[in-house]
Amino acid sequence: MTYQTVNPFNNQLIKTYPDATDEDLENALARGHDLYKTWRKQEGPGDRPAQLRQVAKLFRQNEDTLAANLTLDMGKLVGEARAEVELCADIADYFADHAEELLAPVPLDNPAGKAYYVKQATGIVFMVEPWNFPYYQIMRVFAPNFILGNPMILKHASNVPGSAVAFQETVTEAGAPEGSLTNLFVNYDQVDRAIADPRVSGVALTGSERGGASVAKSAGANLKKSSMELGGNDVFIVLDDADWDLLKKVAPSARLMNAGQVCTSSKRFIVTENRYDDFVSLIVDAFSHAVLGDPSNPETTLAPMCMVSARDNLAKQVENAVAGGAKVVYGNKPYDSPGAFFTPTVLTDIDRDNPVYNQEMFGPVASIYKVANEDEAIELANDSSYGLGGVVFSSDTEHADALARRIETGMTFINGGWVTMPELPFGGIKNSGYGRELYSLGFDTFANEHLIFQH
Ligand code: NDP
Repeated sequence: MTYQTVNPFNNQLIKTYPDATDEDLENALARGHDLYKTWRKQEGPGDRPAQLRQVAKLFRQNEDTLAANLTLDMGKLVGEARAEVELCADIADYFADHAEELLAPVPLDNPAGKAYYVKQATGIVFMVEPWNFPYYQIMRVFAPNFILGNPMILKHASNVPGSAVAFQETVTEAGAPEGSLTNLFVNYDQVDRAIADPRVSGVALTGSERGGASVAKSAGANLKKSSMELGGNDVFIVLDDADWDLLKKVAPSARLMNAGQVCTSSKRFIVTENRYDDFVSLIVDAFSHAVLGDPSNPETTLAPMCMVSARDNLAKQVENAVAGGAKVVYGNKPYDSPGAFFTPTVLTDIDRDNPVYNQEMFGPVASIYKVANEDEAIELANDSSYGLGGVVFSSDTEHADALARRIETGMTFINGGWVTMPELPFGGIKNSGYGRELYSLGFDTFANEHLIFQH
């Protein structure tokens, strides 16, 4: 296992980081467990809300430097990198501000006695996180569990070590006690051993189905709680009465943001036949104006992908799609650069027996499907092993609302692309995983809802 930063813009190796030893892992477990026991003795969250507010403040104060790490590690556009840093600060503030109400005992009406439950820490939470939002993914788990009193150990993706180190340094600088969050450059065996360790109470993973299945299997074998935020093949349904001006603003970026590498980005555009040709033209026009280039240049609008191997995997998927009968109506052209660039691409005519029909394409490739009516749209939307997010576009918002509830996903957005904020729960169903992050639902994931009953 090698943790290294390779700049996706030019494929140059920037830095290699030493692997964690078994002793590093043991030390992190011991420190985390000691901290858990210390926190468990205290009433309430103590200094943690103030420390988390300080984390938020440092994220805002150091926005430029923190954002530059993201751009270097995984090629994020500088504007998007800044937005990610600000979102992290908002999440930290949210859980700091709501600490008291999230931890308040919940009274339980019953005919037999005084009863309530109180949310308590359970021990170390192990997190396994992906590279696409290197800080946001950590913050979704860190902020609620820090308030609750669960220390954390982080295994980040091997291509974003700089961001992992920067996050841990920010937590330390904010005054959080040692062991609150320990980043370790561990391998998969060490992850499995950590999950089996009695000092670890649960594991949160965001990543692929393959990685999720492996880590969930370890968690299950050790009877540990787990939450899985996995891939998506999200739909974007366009009905006849969709607002065209709004669509023009929303639809292209719902696919191209973060170079198309978002679990909840819209990947399958499903359009009623009356609007189909116009919609294909809309997407092709927008994609043809994408400016590929250096992600640290504010003029660039489409970043490189996170690494050359991810770009090559996507190219293979497009090749397979075409071999299976799909049409390339735009893009899929070579781009002359040593970096991980993939030209924005539009595919149509993907039949149900096409090899990519039920595959997530994690990059700037839009698939557009034509349907006769909305029932067909819903049937196609739900004919997927994924169930993360989705979008419905219609000027009749009441009708769009009813339609949204027929889509088998964890999150559906109406007349706008996917959004994430601390106030909204995040998560999916089917092979997109289980559990929720953010909002109070995310706070509860690794809590012991401890019943106290007085006869
Ligand atoms: P991976 O599953 O390969 O990697 C994610 C993380 O899991 C990395 O830290 C990786 O480590 C680790 N990992 C993978 N396999 C194992 C294992 N067997 N044991 C321990 N750790 C493991 O995902 P990708 O890099 O392919 O990330 C993209 C995927 O993540 C996409 O499918 C995307 O949709 C999904 N995703 C889901 C989100 C959600 O919230 N639902 C959000 C963002 C992305 P290493 O890097 O060392 O291999």
